Parts: sequence; structure tokens; C-alpha cells
Amino acid sequence: MTAACLDAQTESSSADRAATLLQQIYGYRDFRPGQRDVIERALAGQDSLVIMPTGGGKSLCYQLPALMLPGLTIVISPLISLMKDQVDALRQSGVAAAALNSSLDREQVSQLFAAIHQGEIKLLYVSPERLMGLRQSLSQWPLSMVAVDEAHCISQWGHDFRPEYAQMGWIKQQFPAVPVMALTATADEATRHDIVERLSLVTPHRHLSSFDRPNIRYTVVEKLRPLAQLQEYLRQQKGNAGIIYCGSRRRVDEVAEKLRKNGHAAAAYHAGMSADERAHTQESFLRERVDIVVATVAFGMGINKSNVRFVVHWDLPKSIESYYQETGRAGRDGLESEALMLFDPGDIARVRHLLDQAENGANPVDVHKLNAMAAFAEAQICRRQVLLNYFNEPSHEPCGNCDICTDPPQQYDGSQDAQKALSCVYRVGQRFGVGHVIEVLRGSNSQPVQDRGHHKLSTWGIGKDKSHEHWLSVIRQLIHHGLLTQDITRHSVLLLTAAARSVLKGERALQLAQPRLALTKSSGRKSRALPQQYDRKLFAKLKNLRRTLADEAGVPPYVVFNDATLAEMAAEMPTQPFELLGINGVGERKLERFGAPFLQLISDYADSAD
Ligand code: ADP
Ligand code: ZN
Repeated sequence: MTAACLDAQTESSSADRAATLLQQIYGYRDFRPGQRDVIERALAGQDSLVIMPTGGGKSLCYQLPALMLPGLTIVISPLISLMKDQVDALRQSGVAAAALNSSLDREQVSQLFAAIHQGEIKLLYVSPERLMGLRQSLSQWPLSMVAVDEAHCISQWGHDFRPEYAQMGWIKQQFPAVPVMALTATADEATRHDIVERLSLVTPHRHLSSFDRPNIRYTVVEKLRPLAQLQEYLRQQKGNAGIIYCGSRRRVDEVAEKLRKNGHAAAAYHAGMSADERAHTQESFLRERVDIVVATVAFGMGINKSNVRFVVHWDLPKSIESYYQETGRAGRDGLESEALMLFDPGDIARVRHLLDQAENGANPVDVHKLNAMAAFAEAQICRRQVLLNYFNEPSHEPCGNCDICTDPPQQYDGSQDAQKALSCVYRVGQRFGVGHVIEVLRGSNSQPVQDRGHHKLSTWGIGKDKSHEHWLSVIRQLIHHGLLTQDITRHSVLLLTAAARSVLKGERALQLAQPRLALTKSSGRKSRALPQQYDRKLFAKLKNLRRTLADEAGVPPYVVFNDATLAEMAAEMPTQPFELLGINGVGERKLERFGAPFLQLISDYADSAD
């Protein structure tokens, strides 16, 4: 047999073994795009740089080779909570994994080291701070591979620079034969370059996944009555886990309080709370004791919850990068999820005004980011195309899974509406803001209207056939078209511009966008692994059982099975162990540990339904 032939054989047999382990340990049927390739290269001893979006399945890329390689794999990870989650999940699947962090006492550390020495540990998670102290020990351990998670922390260009990360070049120098795998979800070229340089990777295999998160549906709605809009939205999302991001701590407290009063299981999270309170919120969310966390952007780093079904932005995000990162916390399990933004065009003017107030004038980078964010929110074309284009991944097809695609903006001849609104602004003497103008238009008898005698104006009540929200949207569009301006220095009173004259006189017609007052319903689009039809009642019961078992085992529920797996159970209704094993996400070990109660529940349910 020739050498090439032998190579081909070992390659195919290692690929087979990887596929078998994928099924046995994780219970997954297929690799996700890129995973197989990355795994094979690592097994062949090559360095690699893996760029996959959040939820793409990076962990498997190093966990599987770690199981197949003879010795120990070190995983460098910056967040203790993430390490703990991963170690918990691996142990549930019967893998010998451990984390070395400050929570271990001396005795525990020496036990762990002994186990490593004996070759009893396959995966060891360490923080970058701890790694330095291991330099001596490492040369005595049977080191097979090193994985650097969140590798963008190496780079000053990344959004999360950590000095301890920048100093890891010694690994490759000390162990030139040990493959190093760097993984991140941040893709810009400068960061990628830094990662390869600083880790001294040798001709690394580069895997760059698409940035697209097809299972997330992007929706932007005009912020009209935000609390009412949010409540309506939450009715659609009942029982689902979600995060609501607000721009300030005060707003977080307010919104959380109101939601609780309305019977939602919601908790707040922001930097003004004590560390204990924050940990409590995070834990309650992970353990499914609360459905909704209302938070400032501080929340989410280190959250490994795969079944977050929706993310709402109550306020305008700082940049597309942060918007993408925050919305990316939804749907890591690949199931259909939603990102909803409540958008007030006035926010852009306000942020711009704030930026302009900086001592040396507005920072051009901030202005650029704000402009890009505004362009996204105001886009009249597919939102996903705008996002992917921003990340240098132009896509030519509209996605069919964003609000613009499913509910395209409608134009109408807005000349009459414009005339009504503009003349009302004129009649109140260009001395009032949006709220008052709408009251007059809609014929309100409120005290302020009466006090000023505005109920006697010719424009009083000429717009009463349309809602408050309709007029709010129209006036915002008139501002956008340059027919009205708001004087920020004088309580944002509305003023007519010179351009308003021709519209007022009926000399110019004006197309306006039909205000979208109702939230669009969730799409029925299929996503990865989502069974088209599953029994929702059974699904809810399975979730309850999962929570009980997770509490008993002291792990978060998704460590037992994720939502995709439960949904498939609720669709297929397996009643025999071998059938359960056929469900994606049920491996042999999990079948042993958790199979019986799930099978029992499904049988009972099926019987009661007969
Ligand atoms: P990342 O670290 O890239 O954000 P994870 O490694 O946490 O993503 O994976 C996200 C989710 O996808 C996890 O629930 C994981 O178990 C699941 N997953 C990973 N690979 C597969 C696969 N081949 N088939 C099904 N699910 C997978
Ligand atoms: Zn689209």
C-alpha cells in the first residue's frame, strides 16, 4: 500500500470517528458548515483561525478533536461563567472536562493536577491570567492541543482587548508541534491579522463562516407608544425567553417594574445594581425562573443561554456592531428568533446633538457609526442586506425574513395629510411641539388646548379621523423631508421651513410612507432544525420536566437538552429508547441519564390524548 493511500485511509477513518462521536456524545446528526473541516485540520496537527458568528458552533470545533487526540487540550477562555457552563455541559455528556479558576482551593488544584498527570482529563479550561502560571507544568503534561476562545481579545482593534491575551505568543514557541486553534465571532481584517501574529500561528487553516444569522428575523417599528407596543409584542412571545435592552438604568428599572405589574416574569439588570443582585438576575434567567431580563448593554457578555427567543431594543443602539452583537444573543440554538427595535427618528438628532457638544467637536468615528445605525433603522430595503453589507458580505437576494421583506413599506399620496399638519403648525404660531400639534389636529378638548383657545382654530379637529400614532409618524416624516424642523433649544417646537410653502399651497405633491401601526405577526418561516409542526402543549410539559431535572442536577436547563431537541421530541413523540436516540441532540450518555423520565412523560401524554 502506498503512503498516499494510507494517508487517505487514516483521514477517512478519522472523519468517520468524528462523525460517530458527534452522534454518540452530542447526539447530533450532522456537522454544521465548517465544523468538519476545522476538526480534520486540527487532528492533522495544523494551526487554525476559526471565525464563526455567535451560535455557529465554535465549541464543537475544538471539543471533538480534544476527545480524539491522545492527550490534554487546554481551552483559554476569558469568562468564568462561560467556562463553568461548558464544563457542566461536557460532564453531562460524560466527557472528562475541568476548569482551573480562582474558585478552586489548594487541595482541589492539586487533585486536578494529579488527574491531568494521569491522563484522566481531556479538556482543561483556563483563564488567560491563570495560563502564565502553568508554563512549567505544561511541559510535563501530555499536551495535544490549545484552543483560544474569544481570540479577538488579543487585538487592540477588537472591541474587547485584554492585555493577558496579547502575551500568549510563548505557547507556540514552547510547543511548536502542538496545534493552536483561535476562535472568534469578530471578523474584521485588522483583528484577524493580529490574532495570527500574536499567537505566532504557522500557516493556519482559515475558516470564515458567513456572518448571516438566518434564523433571526429583524424588525424595526416606529416607536409610538413604546410600552403598549412592547406589551402587544410580549403577548405574542408568551413564555419565551427574551432580553429587552434600554439606554439607561432608570429606564431599565421603570420598564422592568411595569412589566412585572402586568404579570410578566421580568427582572432588571444594570451596572447600578450590586454584584449579588446582578448574579441573581442572571441565574434566574438561566434557570428559567424569569422569562424576561430588562437590561442595559452590560447584560449578555458571558450569557451562554442558547434559547433566547427575542431581543428588543427600546432605544437606539450605539452602532451596528453593538446591535449585531446584542441581537446575536437570540437564537443560538438555531431556532427561529426575533430582533425587534423600537425606533424613534428623533433619537438620531438627539445623539447627533450630544456628539456635537464634545469639546473638540464630534468624533468622526462616532458620527460614522451613528450614520450607519440611522441608515439601517431607516432602510427601505431588506434589513439583512444592509447588515451583511456593513460587514463586507454583500448579499444580493432580499432575505424574506425581515420586516421590509415580509411587509414592504407602502407609499401613499400624503399631500393632504401634509397640508393639514403643516397648516396646523402654522396656526398654533410655530410655538408648540409635536404632542400639542397632534392634540389640536385630532380635536382634543384638553385643558392646554382650551387655555390657549386652540379649539377655535380652523385646523382644530381636521385630523380626527386618524390616530395619534398616524400623525406622529406623518410629522416625523415631514421633518425627515425637510418641511418642518424642531428647535432643540426651545422645547423642540415645530417650525416651518421655506420648502413647506409649496406643499402647503398645494403646488407640490408629496409621497409619504404609510405608517405601520400594528406589529407584524411572527413569520411561519422554517429555520434550521425547527420541526414545522410540534405539539406546543407537550413542548411546555417537556420544558417543565427539563427544569426539574436541571435543578436536581444543579445545571442550567439547556445543559440537559436544548429547545430544538425538545421541539423535535414534541413533534416525533418517541416512546422507545432507540427512537429517542434518533432525536437530534440526544446522545448515548444523555439517554442513559435523562431518557427514562422524558419517555415516560411522552407515553403518558400520548395515552391521555387517545
Ligand atoms: P458559539 O460558541 O459559536 O457561539 P456554540 O458552540 O455555543 O456556539 O454552539 C451553539 C449551539 O449550537 C449549541 O447549543 C450547540 O450545542 C449547538 N450545535 C453546535 N454544533 C451543532 C451541530 N453540528 N448540530 C446541532 N447543533 C449544534
Ligand atoms: Zn429581508
